[in-house]
Amino acid sequence: MGRYTGPACRLCRREGLKLFLKGDRCNMAKCPIDTGRPPPGMHGVRRTKASDYARQFREKQRLQRYYGLQDEQLRLFFARAAQQPGITGETLLRLLELRLDNLVYRFGFSPSRRAARQFVRHQHLSVNGHRASVPSMILKPGDRVAVKDRKHSRALAKKWLEANEGKTLSPWLQLDRENYVGEVLREPTRAEIGPFVNEQLVVELCSK
Ligand code: SF4
Repeated sequence: MGRYTGPACRLCRREGLKLFLKGDRCNMAKCPIDTGRPPPGMHGVRRTKASDYARQFREKQRLQRYYGLQDEQLRLFFARAAQQPGITGETLLRLLELRLDNLVYRFGFSPSRRAARQFVRHQHLSVNGHRASVPSMILKPGDRVAVKDRKHSRALAKKWLEANEGKTLSPWLQLDRENYVGEVLREPTRAEIGPFVNEQLVVELCSK
């Protein structure tokens, strides 16, 4: 599957979920999800019962769009999760939450995961004092993400930190706003990640 370049809101409408793809505009009253717009297309509202495959596929799409993943990237993350002990679906979600781009978004340095990826690629950050420019890098407890002490990098982060002032930080993360440093305190629990996807259906599809 190639990279999607169409309207971002269409993806949210298809999934029936706020994916926060447009940054601060997602918090405005005219967000199509908040106004109750139906799924896109003439078959947007299904009247027949979806097949098992259709439900699995829908959950996989939802997961990919939430984290901004291509098929191949999801396949690699799934393979990695399947090798680890524990429940594969939960491990998969935990790994995705610990991606650097997701953390940059969670800390509030960027308005969306898409913008966070660009922020990482443009080398505005360091991880544990070392240069970091790979959005899919997986962090672990104790790792510290810092915005570089450069005028442009700090100005960008400051803008979004101020815009995200009222946003609650996940309890497994810690943020030092003064110094633009975020820290991973521990791995998130399944409950802390949120109920936006049925990961078991994704595992069933990816295991085929
Ligand atoms: Fe559009 Fe953002 Fe609302 Fe999604 S959450 S529908 S991207 S405004």
